[in-house]
Amino acid sequence: MTQIRGIHHVTAIASDPQRNLDFYAGVLGLRFVKRTVNFDDPHTYHFYYGDDVGSPGSILTFFPWPGARRGRQGTGQVTVTSFAVLPTALGFWIERLLRHGVKYEGPTRRGPSGSESEQVISFKDHDGLMLEIVAHAGAEARSAWGDAPGIPRDNAIHGFHGVTLWVGDGGPSEKVLVDTLGFRPLHEERGTRRFESGDGGPGTFVDVRSIGGFVQGAGGAGTVHHVAWSVADDETQLTVRERVVNAGLHPTPVIDRNYFHSVYFREPGGVLYELATNPPGFAIDEPVEQLGERLMLPAQYEPHRAEIEAILPRIHLPVPATAVSAFAESTGPEDVSGDALGFVHRYVPPAAGSEVAGGTTLLLLHGTGGDENDLLPLGRSLLPGAAMLSPRGKVLERGAPRFFRRLAEGVFDQEDLALRTEELARFIEAASATYALERDGLVAVGFSNGANIAGSLLLRRPGLLRGAVLLSPMVPYEPSALPDLAGTAAFIGAGRNDPIAPKEQVERLASMLRDAGAEVTVHWQNAGHTVTKDEVDAAQRWIARHITSGAGRVGR
Ligand code: ZN
Repeated sequence: MTQIRGIHHVTAIASDPQRNLDFYAGVLGLRFVKRTVNFDDPHTYHFYYGDDVGSPGSILTFFPWPGARRGRQGTGQVTVTSFAVLPTALGFWIERLLRHGVKYEGPTRRGPSGSESEQVISFKDHDGLMLEIVAHAGAEARSAWGDAPGIPRDNAIHGFHGVTLWVGDGGPSEKVLVDTLGFRPLHEERGTRRFESGDGGPGTFVDVRSIGGFVQGAGGAGTVHHVAWSVADDETQLTVRERVVNAGLHPTPVIDRNYFHSVYFREPGGVLYELATNPPGFAIDEPVEQLGERLMLPAQYEPHRAEIEAILPRIHLPVPATAVSAFAESTGPEDVSGDALGFVHRYVPPAAGSEVAGGTTLLLLHGTGGDENDLLPLGRSLLPGAAMLSPRGKVLERGAPRFFRRLAEGVFDQEDLALRTEELARFIEAASATYALERDGLVAVGFSNGANIAGSLLLRRPGLLRGAVLLSPMVPYEPSALPDLAGTAAFIGAGRNDPIAPKEQVERLASMLRDAGAEVTVHWQNAGHTVTKDEVDAAQRWIARHITSGAGRVGR
């Protein structure tokens, strides 16, 4: 009779939507898979977090009500929501929670020894919702999102581990779990009995804790609203619903929740259960790559989109706004990434005590087809310990990110270049304020297309950059009047056999920058359109001489 596959989702109540996003997408690194509204109250958000596609068993959802009053944990509720991680990830999470100022308890060992043994870290979100990260060998069987900033897939959360119910008397609740829903009893430890369903293991566990006489729970921020059990399809849902009726409980009719179909009922201990179908899933109304980026509305609310959007609080994804305060409390460098400030980007703060880098921030600008991660290793070798700001180009050329459009190889769309340069300059200004960067210390490091927009920044926005390392660059455009680049330094690395950035282009760019008053160093190498070790070494020496020694600052 095992027709419940495990947990489908857990839905909880939160207060501030942005804090909720910052914590679950930012700190815990769950993917924000859907931003929609409460279908019963379209003026409040409904957030869904999960793995890369929001698989059943990974989905944690919230109704964030700004200013919501706190609820109270007690009987008749799911009180603890547990996430599964690999046993090797435990240390990572202890360090990460510490670094983000999240108070935690543990790790403590729980359960029988052997492959069923688990290590648990307990903590709460901003609203007091009780959470656990549970290291368990079985986590491997569940999927994770591998693209969370700063969280490699092996350390990422692999869906739910289980949920804990608090009930006055466990008997009737356990009877429904076993006789009606097909759960199997596993073991008992200190008054808590564990059950599993489906294939068993993390994602299917429910712990029932009998605490007669304990205060009854009250709904509100920081409490779980309901837990949904996963059923394969509509037919199975109706079969299980029938059994719920036969058990003397009172399920709702099937309700269409757009991303799944739902039946709700209250079990004898007072906990609200849902039976949710696995299909259709979250890609029903937006592509998998763009999950969570836009507000999605069900058909009945689409005509009211403008009004709904005007009422909903503004949110951004995932968290750079908190970056500065996070660094202030952090014990070491912490990456930040997100799509706030107008660009998907990464910001790597300066390493603690990195005197050499001074106030220098490397602005990394990748070549066509690269992304915000590409040039981080280059930045680290050019100036170890320096802060790095690395945006991803917003123009897509057959799926390959670039910083501006081109009409053909070597033929730039000048109107687009002008707009994109201005857009990038605004991002740099916003990021400088957000991350408290020294405005006098920005040095662009660009390769190819990235070098070309860096050249455009130099010519269009003199004073924004203190210097630039231009690798395999071309002349971005011919300015009608040269800017004043006195006090600006540029390093040009070029290949004699570069078919894309030919010699004449490189020489023209160098003389243009010199004529504008910049101090220009050109490094030629016997190579094509590429970055070589020799070139990196030369650029590194140039940075030491012209940027970090302080000599170049005279005259600014
Ligand atoms: Zn639900």
